[in-house]
Amino acid sequence: MLDPGHGGKDAGTWPRHSTTYPEKTLVLDIAKQIGQILVARNVRVIMTRTSDVYPSLEQRSVMADRSGADLFVSIHVNSAPRNRSASGVEAHIYSQATSTSSRAAQCIVAALKRSGIETRGIRRSDFHVLREHSRPAVLMECGFLTNPQDAAALDNGAYRAKLAAAIAEGITNFLAR
Ligand SMILES: [Zn+2]
Repeated sequence: MLDPGHGGKDAGTWPRHSTTYPEKTLVLDIAKQIGQILVARNVRVIMTRTSDVYPSLEQRSVMADRSGADLFVSIHVNSAPRNRSASGVEAHIYSQATSTSSRAAQCIVAALKRSGIETRGIRRSDFHVLREHSRPAVLMECGFLTNPQDAAALDNGAYRAKLAAAIAEGITNFLAR
């Protein structure tokens, strides 16, 4: 299950002059591309949203439980207004994550590293969509819109495609084992 963050009334982060589109649009594009790659590899993909609508966090977690998915991956981009030098991709798992979630995050981070994308590794967090359902789960923060280099990269369709390919590769490797 792929979960593009935010949507509809909730634009997500969008520091001024950072990118052409807000977080909700960037992450939908990345998630859809991940989904297309996985479907081409015969992975069954369910999305929490495929358009500019806002499922609540509760709805997303209910969808995750009902899906019985092998893995739930939420896609976001980050912002650190007080530290504009912060850059790179982070994988978040729940503070009390299972070893399965941990392994999924490791697979995704390894694939990002192989494709030369800067990563800040795996963090443990208390996000709703990691905590409030039973499926293995990872939340990707795909770079910082407050960092000029990350924002320029995320504004570029070719970079978003590269990011999506790497995340899809990591998910594929996780599912294969
Ligand atoms: Zn977000």
